[in-house]
Amino acid sequence: MTVFERFERFERWLAHPGAVALLQAGRELRAVLLPVCCVVCGRPDEPLCPPCAGELRRSTLRPFNAAAGAGLLPAQCADTDPEEDFHPLPVTASGYYRSGLARVLLACKNHGHTGLAAVLAPALARALHAVPGSGSGPLVLVPVPGSARAWRRRGYDPLRLILRTVDHGGLLPRGMRIEYLLGYRRLPLAARWAARGPGGQKGLGARARRTNVHGSMSAGGPGSLQGVSVLVADDVLTTGATIAEAVRALRAAGADVTCAVVIAAARSPSRRE
Ligand SMILES: [Zn+2]
Repeated sequence: MTVFERFERFERWLAHPGAVALLQAGRELRAVLLPVCCVVCGRPDEPLCPPCAGELRRSTLRPFNAAAGAGLLPAQCADTDPEEDFHPLPVTASGYYRSGLARVLLACKNHGHTGLAAVLAPALARALHAVPGSGSGPLVLVPVPGSARAWRRRGYDPLRLILRTVDHGGLLPRGMRIEYLLGYRRLPLAARWAARGPGGQKGLGARARRTNVHGSMSAGGPGSLQGVSVLVADDVLTTGATIAEAVRALRAAGADVTCAVVIAAARSPSRRE
């Protein structure tokens, strides 16, 4: 649609009485002044067109356990011998990190499309309801915090934004509450430079990622979370190194962490649950 046609529609809506007409006129004017297009298919006028929104919804209808695809996840139980009977921490994922879901997540994370949090929130909520034990008792959801560097670059924390939309929309399972218990420790300058790497965490191999993040987070003093059941939340699961560090910090504070949840899993799991 051309700008001229848009203006014509804007004028037509203005001629109509009522709030709906005014709202439509506002949309037409916004489309002229701030042209947007679908972050998945490029269709003009909306950040996510209805067909792509429908496809995204369908791709996140059946959350699954993505733990088998992430080799650096910690053990499900803190006191098991990793050499003997290793069961990775279950990680419930809303969908796979590919096609529409990957593009929408990237747009929300790195390209300022904060409005897409409203699209990702129901997807994450479905995963939260699918977490083992969800809704059956008190469970504290602890998000992996965004780094200070990411905050400076983006000006917002995408996961926090999505979780706030879940919470305000009344989509949290019964008994679940969100608490921001994790923070990054201040590392010595040399360690901070090493952690930056050439492309940050993204550019590192699996083993380097684990070394890179180990000891970087804190959740309070020993015993401060004794007896608290915790669910760790992150946006994307790749190797599991970040979730492993979050779980280590929370367990060090005494929390009982038995599962995690993510919006998208980067690798296909070998089995679905
Ligand atoms: Zn589209």
